[in-house]
Amino acid sequence: MKEPKERKHSKFSASGADRWQNCAGSVAISEGVEDTSSKWAEEGTRAHEILEALLRIELATCADASQIDELIKFERVLKYTPDLGFTERQHQEMTAHAKNTAKFILNLNKEANPQILVETRISLEFIHPAAFGTFDGAALEFYGILDVVDFKYGAGYPVSPTKNLQMIFYAMALAHKYDWAFETARLWIDQPRVKGYDGPMFWQLSIEELKSWVEVFEDKVLEVELNPDKFVEGPWCRWCKGKKLCPLKKEKRSENTRKVFSTALDISSVDFE
Ligand code: SF4
Repeated sequence: MKEPKERKHSKFSASGADRWQNCAGSVAISEGVEDTSSKWAEEGTRAHEILEALLRIELATCADASQIDELIKFERVLKYTPDLGFTERQHQEMTAHAKNTAKFILNLNKEANPQILVETRISLEFIHPAAFGTFDGAALEFYGILDVVDFKYGAGYPVSPTKNLQMIFYAMALAHKYDWAFETARLWIDQPRVKGYDGPMFWQLSIEELKSWVEVFEDKVLEVELNPDKFVEGPWCRWCKGKKLCPLKKEKRSENTRKVFSTALDISSVDFE
């Protein structure tokens, strides 16, 4: 998963929350390192653009002139464009998945007529000014349910919504923005291409419980600032931009090189006679 959605650099990004909360050193080391794009990341980005276009078109009401320009732009996103480097089949697959997710978002808690938000930047500036991210979709029922949805296009690594720090980030930021005026939060992940996919999955928590995560995030931000040289390896390394500069990874590479050399030396010293 990219930390792709934080198009403008966020030091404490939502999508990188698992990384920076577990490896304080990754923050400084990743600073200024360019994102290296992969075909999977590009596909994910495009699928998100299609989802946004579908939702914005569906939610558009009375269009003034400026909205019409926007809608034309979104209509264009839905058309197959060979220049982008995807096959028509890939485009159709992205569109089919994005349509299902869009439908899901638009139908969330429908009986309560919630306010739907799409691809919106949200921040935890009450914790740190450089803590922000952009969520895919949310349905806000004030004094009721706060639903937040993340669309994941990756097929390789299933992501669980339970205690998912990226989703907690979005929900906290949204709840705080609206004075915590909700009873419950549901954090949804829709990852349609993952093996065994059985529809969007969610984790539910009370707003009081959600609030208790503020302190956890504050402590983790402090840890990054107090221990910029503390490195901890784990599954979060997968998305770390600073991997090439990471001392733990460098050490591992040197160790591997040493092993290769010593194995080669052992073989050359074997007496075959
Ligand atoms: S690659 Fe290194 S810096 Fe990045 S998350 Fe892993 S341990 Fe931390």
